[in-house]
Amino acid sequence: MSKTIAINAGSSSLKWQLYQMPEETVLAKGIIERIGLDDAISTVKFDGRSESQTLSIKDHTVAVKLLLEDLKRFGIISDFSEITGVGHRVVAGGEIFKQSALVTDEVLAQVEELAALAPLHNPANAAGIRAFREILPDITSVVVFDTAFHASMPEVAYRYPLEDKYYTDYQVRKYGAHGTSHFYVAQQAADILGKPLEDLKLITAHIGNGVSLTAVDGGKSVDTSMGFTPLAGPMMGTRSGDIDPAIIPYLVEHVPGLDDAAAVINVLNKESGILGVTGRTNDMRDLEAGVEAGDPKCQLAYDMFADRLKKFIGQYLAVLNGADALVFTAGIGENAANLRAKIVEGLTWFGLDIDPEKNVFGTTGIISTDAARVKVLVVPTDEELVIARDVEALRG
Ligand code: ADP
Repeated sequence: MSKTIAINAGSSSLKWQLYQMPEETVLAKGIIERIGLDDAISTVKFDGRSESQTLSIKDHTVAVKLLLEDLKRFGIISDFSEITGVGHRVVAGGEIFKQSALVTDEVLAQVEELAALAPLHNPANAAGIRAFREILPDITSVVVFDTAFHASMPEVAYRYPLEDKYYTDYQVRKYGAHGTSHFYVAQQAADILGKPLEDLKLITAHIGNGVSLTAVDGGKSVDTSMGFTPLAGPMMGTRSGDIDPAIIPYLVEHVPGLDDAAAVINVLNKESGILGVTGRTNDMRDLEAGVEAGDPKCQLAYDMFADRLKKFIGQYLAVLNGADALVFTAGIGENAANLRAKIVEGLTWFGLDIDPEKNVFGTTGIISTDAARVKVLVVPTDEELVIARDVEALRG
């Protein structure tokens, strides 16, 4: 009997979930936002309650102290010693980490060095790790990498068509992301389909604010849409996804205020995608409302979003030479039934076909017709559970 906490630290936020293991019961979860500011917000959810407070939180260490104190304050734990493990989500594992690892000084240093590959994420992830090491130094501490599931990609998929030196000397290659989510929903899909994962060809579509698709052959990632960084792939909430790279120097040359490549990349990461095309929102629910109200920019963004997803599914049908199932997951994939229908509408030639009676809001499981050659599934993702399981597995 042990309590394990899964941590997803961002630059100014820290999401957490506390599990009773090995039962995998969620005891509590929460999020601390606006870390670094005087009006940070901490929310704790447990027993059907939601408790929020606004206070000054200087850094991640203070945030971790607060969340542990809150666990005691709300009676979720009576002593810190009940927590025996912590698992940290880390975005970039580079070529070093092909699976989850126990945190050591060396591992922590490597996570920090890999910030070159994920400058927005790895430093924040490392801050979360440091905070826990300082406060609970004796518990099992594990890092779980977003990239690890994609370590099985063949070279033909992960290499860019560039001179060798850019790969060998500069590590420029496709790493992918959202690996824990793709792995989890692939496993769940196999359970739902009642077949061993080893015998299945799946396309997993993680469609949230960030979007990535993966071709999963026999339980292994063989291609994925995020690339050297999470900017690649289909259109996303605020990210452009794939564009012609020649646009970057063109914009630097012609647009006042966009003075260098970094400024353009910032636009491509934070001001593009659904937000860029609509000019007002990055949120699918707002976008759907805009479409409903007849806003032409929203309609265009919606149509583009579906179009890019459909094209990636087409790619992966080719990569896998046909698939057993397409799996929708994450905030949009799990909830936006009309979007799912629109995407699959354009893929019927390939054997996908949605049953409108099954494809309704709130549903999970199979949503394709009985006759469909390629099944379509909705599977809620659970990255935190994968993290908690990896902590257990490495606890020894
Ligand atoms: P993140 O990548 O930040 O983890 P999520 O997986 O939570 O993102 O997905 C966020 C997206 O899910 C938002 O665009 C949001 O509008 C969308 N979403 C959430 N609920 C619904 C819903 N009921 N219908 C349509 N979209 C939804």
